[in-house]
Amino acid sequence: MMSTLAERQMQFLFALRSKGVTDARVLTAMERTDRALFVKGHFADRAYDDMPLPIACGQTISQPSVVGLMTQALQVQPRDKVLEVGTGSGYQAAILSHLARRVYTVDRHKTLMRDARAIFTKLDITNLTAFTADGSFGLPDQAPFDRILVTAAAEDPPGPLLAQLKVGGIMVLPVGQSDSVQQLIRVSRTDTGFEYEEIRPVRFVPLLEGLGKD
Ligand code: SAH
Repeated sequence: MMSTLAERQMQFLFALRSKGVTDARVLTAMERTDRALFVKGHFADRAYDDMPLPIACGQTISQPSVVGLMTQALQVQPRDKVLEVGTGSGYQAAILSHLARRVYTVDRHKTLMRDARAIFTKLDITNLTAFTADGSFGLPDQAPFDRILVTAAAEDPPGPLLAQLKVGGIMVLPVGQSDSVQQLIRVSRTDTGFEYEEIRPVRFVPLLEGLGKD
């Protein structure tokens, strides 16, 4: 039986909660961000399913429960300046824009950037700036950041991103070889160094060097 849009959205939120996304602010931000806007063509039908979906440039929009768990692990505070590396569809960045004071997001593909920017404009999101750039180098002009979220997998946390994290700041990112299981980790910067915690196994596209050829 076909379910209505409202029912599908309810199921979507229920699925998030059942997978461990329990933070009320994160759930509200996700409720306010319609994933269907970020998924194009025939995959739009699957926008409320808890699965990653293909987007342009051979990339993917992450699984909603993984987006929720990453956002929750990031513990974004209302006054935070946040950097996201890997804009992709723009879905994660739009969610972050509801939680933070200011969000910067970068992607190496200008086609993805163009599509994501069009959605940010349509949604009238004003505290979000999106750039085409190689995010492994962070954004030196806007640094330091309270929070950094990387949505592509590197073998290790990139040095420039560690350097651009404030003391007391948190970075969440997948690490590991691109074609095997990666670990989602949380890095906290303290007065004396960095603390690392494993969150869960995940699978992300690789963090690649340089700009895309599009
Ligand atoms: N957060 C996205 C999903 C990201 S998929 C969403 O909500 O839809 C991972 C993205 O990381 C891809 O779009 C890919 O182009 C981008 N990426 C990979 N390496 C990168 C790099 N070095 N700098 C910036 N973006 C990168």
